[in-house]
Amino acid sequence: MSDADTLFERIIAREVPADIVHETETTLAFRDINPQAATHVLVVPKTRYRTVAELAAADPKLLADVIATADKVAELEGLTAGGYRVVFNTGSHAGQTVFHVHAHVLGGEQLGLFGRYQSEAG
Ligand code: 5GP
Repeated sequence: MSDADTLFERIIAREVPADIVHETETTLAFRDINPQAATHVLVVPKTRYRTVAELAAADPKLLADVIATADKVAELEGLTAGGYRVVFNTGSHAGQTVFHVHAHVLGGEQLGLFGRYQSEAG
């Protein structure tokens, strides 16, 4: 990886504090600092890839580990019965801000539709 370490490498290295929900040999799950649902947890592979497509191409088993951790987080957070959403933002139109692939796990309440940008003014 040629560019500088992202925030998430620093969280994985415990250089930046985070509210960690679950950890496996290959993944880490921690609460999003700016939650967009009652429960909002990020799941990252400990090895860095910029996007979910790069991860899928390079290491499909690791992508499967990320999804398995997302499902474990749902179980631990009591989301399994009600259901939950897993989102991978990719690139600027999707609002990706951290270029270390991460799954957003959202749930704990009825979620809205998603897609088109809405300004704060509506
Ligand atoms: P993205 O926009 O790249 O899909 O998601 C990045 C996420 O990282 C955002 O939802 C943002 O709230 C979250 N985030 C940014 N800085 C921090 C931080 O310092 N700690 C934690 N736990 N989450 C962060």
